[in-house]
Formats: sequence, structure tokens, C-alpha cells
Amino acid sequence: MSYTFKITKIEKSGISNLDFNNIPFGKVFTDHMFVADFINGEWTNLEIKPVAPIPTHPGNMAWHYGQAIFEGMKATIDNSGNALLFRPEMHAERINKSAVRMSMPEIPHDLFLQAVHNLVDMEKSWIPPQAGSALYIRPFMYATDETIGVRSSETYKFIIFTMPVGPYYTNPVKLLAQDKYIRAVVGGVGEAKTAGNYAASLLPATMARKEGYDQVMWLDGVHKKYVQEIGTMNIFFVINDEIITPNLDGAILAGITRDSMLTLFRDQGYKVTERPISIDELIEAGKNGTLTEAFGSGTAAVIAPASHIKHNDDVVILDTDNRKYSKWAFDTINGIRNRTKEDKFNWIVPAEPYRN
Ligand SMILES: *Cc1c(COP(=O)(O)O)cnc(C)c1O
Repeated sequence: MSYTFKITKIEKSGISNLDFNNIPFGKVFTDHMFVADFINGEWTNLEIKPVAPIPTHPGNMAWHYGQAIFEGMKATIDNSGNALLFRPEMHAERINKSAVRMSMPEIPHDLFLQAVHNLVDMEKSWIPPQAGSALYIRPFMYATDETIGVRSSETYKFIIFTMPVGPYYTNPVKLLAQDKYIRAVVGGVGEAKTAGNYAASLLPATMARKEGYDQVMWLDGVHKKYVQEIGTMNIFFVINDEIITPNLDGAILAGITRDSMLTLFRDQGYKVTERPISIDELIEAGKNGTLTEAFGSGTAAVIAPASHIKHNDDVVILDTDNRKYSKWAFDTINGIRNRTKEDKFNWIVPAEPYRN
């Protein structure tokens, strides 16, 4: 089904202020955003309009009780000037999984996709053409009832804004396994992309940085033993040429990059296993030299190789110059995104405006 959006264009685009070769990460917004309200059980007031603050009442339920979810996606641009989305349906599905868990309304797939397509098409002149650069797309939803009292809100806003981002080059990251604090437990909200998961991660992240580590490696909440994910990414290890990633156990966020990499690795004939992996097994494999790579996967960085893994008094150091699998995966995903590599699985979808 196709929706009708009210479109209000900005008077003067901010794009002339942008230096495409020097884009500060996460600070530059494009001209327009999509906004919709959930009122009386339906999505209404569908509008694309200039990015601007949204006045909010102090009793807004999202502030107090935390019903807030988001997605993170990227659009790239090909040589012919087409804006390209990567697996947009997966994001449409995932935001609804998050919504269900957080007792929020679902967004019809067609509404989510049409809003993403129309907005990205409108903002495509902001997509930096350089390899590895992209338009970062942030769809999110939050509660808007002005009520104090714990219950599900009856009204919500769904907003999408976009931001140009330069090549996200990450230095190899140092990981600190955390066994005092946990990110999520099975039955909790670890599978939902919800704001509170990040709030809970900030103190341990700050503590890790004080120790000289970049990201927390989360262990499971019950045994404090099995590796779950790192910071904002899923995690992969290579031990004896076997690619291992923790199985989705109900506490781990189902990353779309994770799924894409598993598909590509398997298609390439590499040995891939999804299973619980304990920090002890990892440290042991690090010590005896069979652990050759560790890397995070996520939309923002695509892949972030790890150089160090610390747990209590054990530190494993990895040779990040010799990264057969993570380098291949990084090049393959980026190649698919800018159409220099075959898109075997039809993941690329050109952003096309829906005309009403
Ligand atoms: C978003 C996210 C990821 C990565 O998911 P992608 O779909 O690959 O971007 C991993 N872990 C957490 C906690 C996340 O929020």
C-alpha cells in the first residue's frame, strides 16, 4: 500500500556548508526529516519537513519510562547517482520486533519503507561519494503521552532523519571483558534496539576507557562466562580457521551485518559456527595461538578488528595486519554496497520515491 505524505521543503539547503572531505561523525544533519504520529491506534500526520527541534512536555512518558527504540541503516550512492539502500526490509522487520518487546505499536512495513525511500531520495545529494562514506539513516520511535504513571503510552512519534558520514575507519579496538556489569539477560530487552540498553552500557564503557580499552566485551548475565557482543556490535572470532560467532540466544541483538557476514562466509565455503563461546576458551585459544582474528560487526563501522582482549589478568594480543577473514568480509560488503562486487543475494535496493 502507498501512503500520502505532506512534504514541506526547506527554504535554503544547508548542504553548501558541508565539506564532503571532512565530515565530523554524528554531527551533521541533512535538510529534511520524516515525522509521523501514532494517535487513536493509527499512524497519521505523515510528513517530510525541515529538520527542527520538537517541543516536548516535561511529562512526556519517554523521558520517564523509556519507551524508545531505533534503527541504524546506511545508504550509499553508485556511479550513476542512484541512492542505494542495504537490506531495508530487515530493518523494517527489526524495528517491529523492538516495538513488540517494548510494548509499542508496530509500523506497517510499507510505511517504514516508503518513508525511508522518499526521504533518502530527497536527501541523496548529501550522500558522500567517497568509498566507505554513506548517508546514515536513523529511524526511531518514542512514547509521547503526557502522563505520570507506569503503563504503555497510547501515543508515539516515529521519526527518520539522515546524516552524511565519512569513511568510518576504525583503528583496531581493544576489548575488555566485563564480568561485574552485564548488558542483557535472556528474557530481558537485549534483543530490542532500545535506548535503555545503551544507557546501561555507558558506565562500564567509561570504566573500560579509563583502563585504556575502547569497548566492553559483554559476557552472559547468568554465568558471566559466555561472550555475547561488544559495545554496539556483534562479535566474531576465528579459531583454527573456523569462524565462530555467539548464537542468538535471546539476549544478543540480531545484527543485520552479522547475518550478512554469516551468509557471505558460508557462500564462500568458509567454516562458520554459531555457538556459545566462553571467555576461557577464547583466552586459551589466544594463548596457544589458534585464535587468529576477532572482529565486531555493525552497520556503522561494518567491521572493527580487535587487537587486544583482556579478561581479569589475562591479555591476548592479536596480529591485526594479518586479517584474512575480516578483511575479506569488509571488502565484500563495501563492494556490494557500491556495486563493485556482485550482489548475489539481492541486498541492494535503489531508493526510489513513491509517487502518490
Ligand atoms: C545495532 C546493534 C548491533 C549491530 O546491528 P547491525 O544491524 O549490524 O547494525 C549489534 N549490537 C547492538 C547492541 C546493536 O544495538
